[in-house]
Amino acid sequence: MKVYRAQSFIRPDLQAHLYSERLLKNAAALRSLCPEETKFCAVVKANAYGHGVREVVNILKNGPVDFFAVAAFYEALHIRPLVRRQRILILEPINSSQPLDQIRMCAKADFDCVLSSLDGLEWARKALEGTDHILRFHLNVETGMGRCGMDPGSAGRLLEQVGSCPMLRHVGVMTHFATADEEDLCYAYEQKKRFEAFLDAHRLKDRPDLLIHACNSAAAIKMPQVHYRMVRCGISLYGYYSRPMKEPPAELRPVLKLQAPITHLKKIPAGQSVGYGRSFIAQRDTLGGVIPLGYADGYRRAFSNRAVMKVGDRFVPVIGRVCMDQLIVDLTDVPGVELGAMATIIDDVHDSPCGAYALAEQADTICYEILTMIHAHVHRIVH
Ligand SMILES: *Cc1c(COP(=O)(O)O)cnc(C)c1O
Repeated sequence: MKVYRAQSFIRPDLQAHLYSERLLKNAAALRSLCPEETKFCAVVKANAYGHGVREVVNILKNGPVDFFAVAAFYEALHIRPLVRRQRILILEPINSSQPLDQIRMCAKADFDCVLSSLDGLEWARKALEGTDHILRFHLNVETGMGRCGMDPGSAGRLLEQVGSCPMLRHVGVMTHFATADEEDLCYAYEQKKRFEAFLDAHRLKDRPDLLIHACNSAAAIKMPQVHYRMVRCGISLYGYYSRPMKEPPAELRPVLKLQAPITHLKKIPAGQSVGYGRSFIAQRDTLGGVIPLGYADGYRRAFSNRAVMKVGDRFVPVIGRVCMDQLIVDLTDVPGVELGAMATIIDDVHDSPCGAYALAEQADTICYEILTMIHAHVHRIVH
């Protein structure tokens, strides 16, 4: 099997500061919401929500974490050498588009895989036949997410068939909530009902060896009734609620601060336009500052003439269109600003005007997307 190198090109001037202690504290705070024996799965897909998966795994592997979850096989392969104590769960279900060799590698690498179809089961069986590998799998049951869970009827048949497959070890049952981040939890509780009906019908709660898990961050925080035997937390680990929360039961702090320097100071006389399309016209004599970051680095074009950044203790507006790798901020009101001063692009405070929540609102999206867009070539600095 080919080994793929992760991107090694780094831009040292674009800096994502990662605060390890906060990451560990967030994990501990989330854990403290659950019964002590509940296992904790740290979701590190999408380059650890844009934070940097190597850095995050290296911090968390010594912390209160039992599992790491990734979306796809290749991410699991990427973090395999970093992880010893924890198990690695691949959320993408086994399917027949995967080379058989890949499934054998999952078994060999001791990954926890997900099954959510009879086809997937057949495929795994085929991959492992004649080998002495054992594949650990979690059964993903559809309860209302409408994505890749298995309808309860077929899931029951899968359980019957697995009995005759010594190379498959059933280690978990899972489902996923569609609306746990919303205020109205009716649908989430309906999902809980369907999940429990399945667990009861197959007496799965009687099996202490099975990891039963359903919670993402929002459910882990708001639905203690469904913690079961493990919770899978992503966004909350990085210090955010799925959406801003007024009186959260666990205090979380953002782990990341994104910064870049001011590389050019520019006098813009009143009346002059700034950038592509002339979307900004200076109303006064303006001091512009160029920041060497743009939409190619994950700073959305939608922030043009809308977002702010922090320079010193001032918040300064982004003026004109965000370019591919540059943008301009209005520094006129920042006293004594100097070339090379660092601008904070994503702040590490929830209610900051340039925090991930504010940016998400400005781009009509969720904080997940703001964070995951931070390019892999941004230099991660671990504190
Ligand atoms: C991404 C994901 C999670 C984590 O969701 P957060 O809202 O970030 O906590 C949990 N479970 C599954 C199946 C996921 O795909």
